[in-house]
Amino acid sequence: MESFFVCENCGNSNKKYIGIRNGIKYCRLCLEFSGKKVKYVKNNPINAKPLLNYELTNEQKEISLKVTTNFIKNKNTLIYAVCGAGKTELVYDVISYALKKGMQVGFTIPRREVVIELAHRIKSTFPKAKVICVYGGQTEILEGNIIVLTTHQLFRYPNFFDLLIFDEIDAFPYKGNELLKIMFKKSIRGNYVIMSATPSKEIIKEIKNSGQILTLFTRFHLYEIPEPKIYYGFLFTKIIITLYKTHKYIKNHKPVLIFAPTIGIATYLFETIKKFIKNGGLVHSKVKSNSSIINDFKKGKLNYLVTTSVLERGITIKGLQVIIFNADHDIYDKETLVQIAGRVGRKKEEPTGDIIFLITRITTAISASMIDIREKNEYLHSVYGTN
Ligand SMILES: [Zn+2]
Repeated sequence: MESFFVCENCGNSNKKYIGIRNGIKYCRLCLEFSGKKVKYVKNNPINAKPLLNYELTNEQKEISLKVTTNFIKNKNTLIYAVCGAGKTELVYDVISYALKKGMQVGFTIPRREVVIELAHRIKSTFPKAKVICVYGGQTEILEGNIIVLTTHQLFRYPNFFDLLIFDEIDAFPYKGNELLKIMFKKSIRGNYVIMSATPSKEIIKEIKNSGQILTLFTRFHLYEIPEPKIYYGFLFTKIIITLYKTHKYIKNHKPVLIFAPTIGIATYLFETIKKFIKNGGLVHSKVKSNSSIINDFKKGKLNYLVTTSVLERGITIKGLQVIIFNADHDIYDKETLVQIAGRVGRKKEEPTGDIIFLITRITTAISASMIDIREKNEYLHSVYGTN
């Protein structure tokens, strides 16, 4: 009779994914998650107050305190905060607490580009702490006071994090990846804090059972989230509007991000626009020099960028204006539309801006995203009045 095999790494027992090498059974399901692992040790306690050169709003302070209280009480937290709320600041207090206790602190995010940026930010907030970055291609140093890592690297830390912060839980490649979910849960020794602007029903339910949901529906600068402006038309009209708007924004010295649903449409659109408007760029998953193009755009060297969903999150640029070409495409669910709209007006110096949906028909995702944004703005007015 065949002996039963359960993978220690991912818990798989399905024979379909079990191989035999030199007479020894191994799991094929989680092969990509093999490599050096780290054993839990207690860190040296560090007295490190977050170093910030700006003040948190009262609401931010209040939530930040609640996050720490939950953590002390062994409760998990979901921070459900709108795009541009200033989420990262909400966990500095709890990180500071954990460092003081010599606990293992992790900060995980699905996408690698965000990991590097985030680590810089955390390093400057906690200069006394050893902040390390772990992602595919960067796995030499695995230990530190604060470990900033992609969700793909969580497998290296079984039963390890006393405090694990998880940002963008609804983003790819974590979203829909069952193995990554297992690795996430296995890496937790203490409690976790999840942050999202668009949490799924599943996560809301999970936190209801294991902790507390904290909401922050106002942006840190207390301006509205810009509501999408809808323009109807077929291809030719949509291109004319894109050209007209992009030209207008650039004339007013505003950077423009133009989203397209597929690489094909993005390429076609870019080829068309660049005949009329110079100094633009194109980014999508197949472009090798993506990060240098994005950097040029951030620095103002490029006036506009045509992009697929690769830039739907994590980008903050002063004065940014956004156009979604074919926002009625199936690829755009409510969450994606809310995230993309959330790129606009994130800076205190320029808290407003345009978000344009170019469509031929209204989809349920479009109406749901409009309702979502409107609800949050109504909340803002109900609490702070009209400004
Ligand atoms: Zn496995």
